[in-house]
Amino acid sequence: MSTPKDPLPRLLYVEDEDQTAAIVTEMLSDEYLVDHARTGEAGLELALGRRYDVMVVDRRLPGLEGAELLSAVRTAHITTPAIMLTALGTVEDRVSGLDAGADDYLLKPFDFDELRARLRALRRGRGPGSRREIGDWLFSSESLALYAPDGGRIPLTQAEGDLLELLTSSPEHVFSREEIVASAFPGGSAGSVDALVHYVRRKSTPEIIDTVRARGYRSGMPR
Ligand code: CA
Repeated sequence: MSTPKDPLPRLLYVEDEDQTAAIVTEMLSDEYLVDHARTGEAGLELALGRRYDVMVVDRRLPGLEGAELLSAVRTAHITTPAIMLTALGTVEDRVSGLDAGADDYLLKPFDFDELRARLRALRRGRGPGSRREIGDWLFSSESLALYAPDGGRIPLTQAEGDLLELLTSSPEHVFSREEIVASAFPGGSAGSVDALVHYVRRKSTPEIIDTVRARGYRSGMPR
């Protein structure tokens, strides 16, 4: 079946630093129709005025801040996926950015290919999910990743993400292996749960998941 070539997806990019904006706009232009706004106010006006497929928002903007912009966009029930660019790496900053309505964030300076990859992942759409704190770490089911306290991003496989989604859904609860299999991996085995726990710990930190002897596993409290 021949269909007309799809138009490029439309991307809203809010960035006040002219030099960065010029480079990023140029780089994104072969994959997206980029609308660039230099202030939070201008970005908000664009976001409210037309439909975008994805948004890239700088955290630090003069006047209306990136987090305030996203918060206003979400209040208007606009669910366009958004990545926040931030130079700030503390857990509070990241949580507030994600709480404001960002689906993912990227620490500045960022690798351009990384931005492209994140945008594609967001546009594939993992649907509404959750961003949860695990001690000083963050887990995002949308972007299928763990974020370390230093801002490092650790990609997860779908199975690893499903495991953390389950454990963090009830952080105080000790999940037996059987319970984990039944809820997250129908048809799987207790041994495959142990292997997954091992992989997640190895790629992040051993404290990310607690072993409760003779009972099972629970969401950890890593620092
Ligand atoms: Ca800025």
